[in-house]
Amino acid sequence: MGPGGEGHPIHPNHSLEAPIAYESRVGDALRETEDASRDAGAATGEEALPPIRSGFVALVGKPNVGKSTLLNALLGQKVTIVSPRPQTTRVPTRGILSRPGAQIVFVDTPGIHQPSHALGRMMVDLAELSIPNADVIAFMVDISQPPSELDRRIAQQVQRARGQRLLVLNKVDVKPRGERNYLEEYRALGPWDEELAISARRRLGLTSLLDIIVERLPEGPALYPDERVTDQSEQQLATEFVREKVLFHTQHEVPHAVAVAVDEWEEREPATFIRMTITVERDGQKAIIIGANGAMLKKIGTAARYEIERMLERKIYLELWVKVRANWRDDPAALGWLGYRAKDWR
Ligand code: GDP
Ligand code: MG
Repeated sequence: MGPGGEGHPIHPNHSLEAPIAYESRVGDALRETEDASRDAGAATGEEALPPIRSGFVALVGKPNVGKSTLLNALLGQKVTIVSPRPQTTRVPTRGILSRPGAQIVFVDTPGIHQPSHALGRMMVDLAELSIPNADVIAFMVDISQPPSELDRRIAQQVQRARGQRLLVLNKVDVKPRGERNYLEEYRALGPWDEELAISARRRLGLTSLLDIIVERLPEGPALYPDERVTDQSEQQLATEFVREKVLFHTQHEVPHAVAVAVDEWEEREPATFIRMTITVERDGQKAIIIGANGAMLKKIGTAARYEIERMLERKIYLELWVKVRANWRDDPAALGWLGYRAKDWR
């Protein structure tokens, strides 16, 4: 595993590894094996408490390469939403993986793209800001497709950063568009401190990825309590789950014109009462989201309720309202009001 560049093959274990079962939390599995080795050490009389490694790992790349899928797979639970549409992730979301001897704070970032409105501009700014602050930058690409102009631009930004630079070639499970995959082309955008191929969706190569990251983190104290998995509150995640279902069920401009906010959240018996507003930009979009006789809104609500109940491990009563606010994506006041305030994230 040397630095990339000399035409060496991808580390064979990276792509041949057995998939990690979805049910078992990756973190738990790692913890179990490490606990076992620590017990073994104690038995031989070693009192070694090695200093821990900790730091920030920025997941950056263009939209739709699988950054959010990877973060959820690494954590074994959903802390960030995923959709087949570009620009799903709007603000950087931290996912924290604690294991004996290390704590990794992943920062899932919005895909870097050519923004066309204030929201998009903020998304790209926030993603770019995460690069200089990271100890390790994981530049994610889709190995089944050739590098685009955006990939080149982002690679240049990553090259200017002080952190360790990993080239993470995702979607090895997808048959390349051409005769072969595009490893060489992506490698040439480097140099990279390390490269590896993975499949976030199939959970291939993730253990190797974690090992490589931990090796490259500086020594330092844990940044979050061990049991913390994300910096997002339950309310923030709940609004994201609703947005994810809208993204899944609607098309064209509608998905991008949607924002979701909590208006009321109250513990009641037998279910937590939650009222949210889905904001869109035009009457036509509102009609689509509500659907004939409210059918679409019902579908969205049912799917979101399932996810929120799973997270809270509690029954909820979910009330959804739809409201029009013209061009909110270009209105700085609306961005703040909808919870997209740049100062809250780094
Ligand atoms: P992001 O915009 O980079 O955060 O990408 P997402 O995580 O939202 O994923 C975009 C799409 O790519 C979704 O439809 C994912 O299911 C899909 N995807 C992510 N990783 C993989 C992978 O390893 N293989 C395949 N085939 N699809 C993937
Ligand atoms: Mg994403």
